Amino acid sequence: MNGYFTVKNLLTRLLVTGGLLLGSLEPMCGQVAHVAPHPKLVVGIVIDQMRWDYLYRYAGLYTTGGFRRLMEQGFRCENTLLPYVPSYTGPGHTCIYTGSVPALHGIIANDWYDESSGKNIYCTQDDSVSTIGSDSPEGRMSPRNLWVTTIGDELRLSNNFQSRVIGISLKDRASILPAGHSANAAYWYDGTAGKWITSSYYMQALPAWVDSENARHLPDQYMSRDWNTLLPPSAYVQSTPDAEPYEGTIGGEPSPVFPHRLSTYRNRYEAFRYTPFAMTYTFDMARAAVVHEHLGRGAVTDLLAISISPTDYVGHTFGPNSMEAEDTYLRLDRDIAGFLAFLDRQLGAGNYLLFLTADHGVLQVPGFLKDHNIPSGNYSTSALKSSLNGMIGAKYHLDNGIAAVENNQVYISPRLLRDSERLPGIERDIVDFLRQQPFVADAFLTSGILTASIPEPVRDRLVNGYTPRRSGQVGFYELPGYLAGGSKGTTHGSWNPYDAHIPLIWFGYHITPGQTSRETYMTDIAATLAAMLHIQVPDGCVGHVIGELIK
Ligand code: ZN
Ligand code: ZN
Repeated sequence: MNGYFTVKNLLTRLLVTGGLLLGSLEPMCGQVAHVAPHPKLVVGIVIDQMRWDYLYRYAGLYTTGGFRRLMEQGFRCENTLLPYVPSYTGPGHTCIYTGSVPALHGIIANDWYDESSGKNIYCTQDDSVSTIGSDSPEGRMSPRNLWVTTIGDELRLSNNFQSRVIGISLKDRASILPAGHSANAAYWYDGTAGKWITSSYYMQALPAWVDSENARHLPDQYMSRDWNTLLPPSAYVQSTPDAEPYEGTIGGEPSPVFPHRLSTYRNRYEAFRYTPFAMTYTFDMARAAVVHEHLGRGAVTDLLAISISPTDYVGHTFGPNSMEAEDTYLRLDRDIAGFLAFLDRQLGAGNYLLFLTADHGVLQVPGFLKDHNIPSGNYSTSALKSSLNGMIGAKYHLDNGIAAVENNQVYISPRLLRDSERLPGIERDIVDFLRQQPFVADAFLTSGILTASIPEPVRDRLVNGYTPRRSGQVGFYELPGYLAGGSKGTTHGSWNPYDAHIPLIWFGYHITPGQTSRETYMTDIAATLAAMLHIQVPDGCVGHVIGELIK
């Protein structure tokens, strides 16, 4: 009998009881025990206006730690396309992080005509919130015009909002839309104040670390220098000579040539966006966010959505074949190398999952294409609207029958939309008129795209860009090489490959080096992230998992 109370038996009983006790508690503690392996941090890097070919075009001058490290150690989806139009910044960033298309997520363009107010609405405009961090209206922004969730929203929903999600970009829309509705924060640059700001949608005061970043007055420092070429000018063999008549200028400078004397620029805080130094400024802010918000230090995965905007401003102004564009990508390569080395030190190589992509590409400058006999040209949207109104006025004796021409869509005035007798004839006349324009490939009623004789890949992209709630009644798409705008600089927005073929590289956590040339889509990014993170896909997602990446 006494044996029952020996020390040994007592220990055994305690262990058994303890075991039972632990066993009975297991469902409560189970969330720790059963958490799937996961990356500490997901880092999305969107390079605004980066065409896929830039990965290869400038590769000879890239360093080993930047783009080449991503390409050699990462997994490349070499044929990633935008499955919709228009190829603009707002829709692009939204599609990347929602896996959805404008027809379903509602961000049909950067701005669109709003029939009820008779005004244009900006994609992240929100007059119900206020700027936090400056006295300007630049912070009156939120994701409220977005109809669906982002991958960041789903990450936070997946673990009762333990994950931290932060967006950072010079551009408000490139920070707010990727971060999503339930983000901890989105920060963007105020070009009137030269500071990082946010809106009262997220918080009532900037965190101390953002105030500290702003107190460094980095835009003032950068704008007191010259922007000269990183390498000797003779190294820029991928570019046309520095001064071309079809290049734009920035800050009121007399000619588009190096060195760009930034200290002489007008509106220097705004002009700062057009310099490569604003890329470094953005990565500095991202570093500060990782350190001070302890991103990747918790029990669950965090998400940092970075978008690099100067590539877009430089591309628009000087064009893809300019020395300025080449110099910007060489500097971006060095910035990326530095940022990867920082993440390695902070979190450990292989502990973070990174993807690099773009929101759209860009067309070569029409003047440059024409110099080389490649079909190209430009036209004016406001002139098109005037001539459409002239045509309707002459035939139907109606003034201002066209309310707006935006994003390759014609918005008929609300008054005419209610005129059921004359509306069908007016719509047909608008289609016919557009088809006569030298830059128009075809025109169609937006409510009947599927029945129009448009080749399937283009038709699908048009359908994916249309919603009756926000779109116009008649649409058109241009011949390749044509754009809406002036004779200097260039832009994007079309379905064509120069605008729609983007880089997509996956790197880090559980990524095996490799590549696929299979056609993949921008909308596949969020679907693939959801699969990798074992979380629900965003609620408007139509993309597919890139199976090659899932082990
Ligand atoms: Zn963009
Ligand atoms: Zn752009």
